[in-house]
Amino acid sequence: MAVVLQGAGVSPGVGAGPVLRVAGDVPEPPAGDRHGGDAAAERAAALAALEAVAADLEARGERAAAAGNTDGRDVLNAQALMARDPGLADGVGAKVDEGVAAARAVFEAFGVYREMLAGAGEYLAARVADLDDIRDRAVARLLGLPVPGVPESDEPFVLVARDLAPADTAVLDPAQVVAFVTEEGGPTSHTAIIARTMGVPAVVALPGAATLADGTRVLVDGAAGTVRIDPSENEVRSARAAAEARASALAEFTGPGATADGHAVPLLANIGGPKDLEQAVANGAEGVGLYRTEFLFLDRATPPSDDEQEEAYRKVLEAFPGGRVVVRTLDAGADKPLAFLPAPGEEPNPALGERGVRMSVRYPDVLAAQLAALARAAAGLTAQLQVMAPMVTDAADARWFAERCREAGIEHPGVMVEVPAAALRARDIAAEVEFFSIGTNDLTQYACAADRQVGGLARLQDPWQPAVLDLVAPAAAAGVPCGVCGEAAGDPALACVLVGLGVTSLSMSAPSLPLVRAALAKHTLEQCREAAAAARGARTADQAKDAARAHLPGLTGLGL
Ligand code: PEP
Ligand code: MG
Repeated sequence: MAVVLQGAGVSPGVGAGPVLRVAGDVPEPPAGDRHGGDAAAERAAALAALEAVAADLEARGERAAAAGNTDGRDVLNAQALMARDPGLADGVGAKVDEGVAAARAVFEAFGVYREMLAGAGEYLAARVADLDDIRDRAVARLLGLPVPGVPESDEPFVLVARDLAPADTAVLDPAQVVAFVTEEGGPTSHTAIIARTMGVPAVVALPGAATLADGTRVLVDGAAGTVRIDPSENEVRSARAAAEARASALAEFTGPGATADGHAVPLLANIGGPKDLEQAVANGAEGVGLYRTEFLFLDRATPPSDDEQEEAYRKVLEAFPGGRVVVRTLDAGADKPLAFLPAPGEEPNPALGERGVRMSVRYPDVLAAQLAALARAAAGLTAQLQVMAPMVTDAADARWFAERCREAGIEHPGVMVEVPAAALRARDIAAEVEFFSIGTNDLTQYACAADRQVGGLARLQDPWQPAVLDLVAPAAAAGVPCGVCGEAAGDPALACVLVGLGVTSLSMSAPSLPLVRAALAKHTLEQCREAAAAARGARTADQAKDAARAHLPGLTGLGL
């Protein structure tokens, strides 16, 4: 009998292929490990491992550059240089001459550099992670263990991991990865967001993911949240046929977003950079509702130059002449660490620490440079630039940000509503800025006190939680245009509920646009309002969903 594992489906579609795992942590070679006496051979093995790591990093860099990611190549080349550092080789040689085994010698030699960097100021301290990565790769080779990090393969595969960091996925080739499966990560984790943006089916919070061995064939259904082990050809065929039938039913709905009775709801795209534009335009995005600018800089060792920023922003603005482009200023920290913007120190609770606009307050020059680059990029173009700050808590944050925007010549400052305090006091904040965009991912995380990175809490990371809907309502009623750009906006039923709550635009990963366009077109504004009232009247997330769907009969016909 086929084994089917159940997780949380976070990116629809069907993908089948062999499993390729992201290898886990490399253990520290035990202190005191000694070699058998042939120091020359041991030293040669250690240096060969370091050279192999350097060559592999360079080769990855070339592939990243060929795929248009030249920043990725620069990071990888810088890492390759560290692996070939003559001082490091001397350090390894000296340890081996003392009798230390090759893997341990590499570990200890890196330790010396590690301490130097860690004590050399914030910026260099952030390079420690790069150094650890090179060390782990070399040690893994010497110990015959799988090399850590995202694997590469000549044939398409299903990527299985405990969780994926945003930086892990920066060098992934979407044509190679037919599906993502992770053990951790909730529906709003960055694995889920990246999968949706790439249009790759994904299942997260899958308890048995660790038991899936490399090479096992699996069928991933990103809508149902299932992973079927060793599926028959027939099962793969019929799952693909069902997914295609649904896609062609949705393709009939085109044009700007609106309810069945003509209430306009602009449908916008969430993007991480110019590379996501093609898909956004292809799916009929009317503009950009969330440009996650930190995604431009995740895989970088150095801060972006003013010109680079201006160019990345201009490309996006140019893609939507006459349209709206909402840019979020850097949301660094917590689940989106940036090497060049380190947190002030150890934070026991990074999600409750310095992130988002709090980081901008700490590094005002970085914000000023970003705002100036945005203003220059928008000059002379017809797209309407709107700029918003992440993680705003109160009216003081909002005022500070709006002042910085106006100083830079940005006319339409806004804020994200993703902290419950901001939602509850939305009227105070509305007095300071021109628009809101509700980040339901973080709003849910904070309302339900459930870390969005933790797979075991998927039940609580659900924006259908009536408490989350209760927080959306005051923000939508605060008197300024209020969009939603969290993942909730891409759920067709929830999108109707949000419109019923008074939300004025919806922004989502591009592949979700056709689903939401069709769902809205099938229902009147009144039906959306009834669905919203029913959902808020429920006591649990599941009941809220069922209650709303009872007022949204058109979803069933669409297979949604
Ligand atoms: C959100 O929190 O809902 C959001 C859109 O921002 P991010 O997912 O990038 O934190
Ligand atoms: Mg957020």
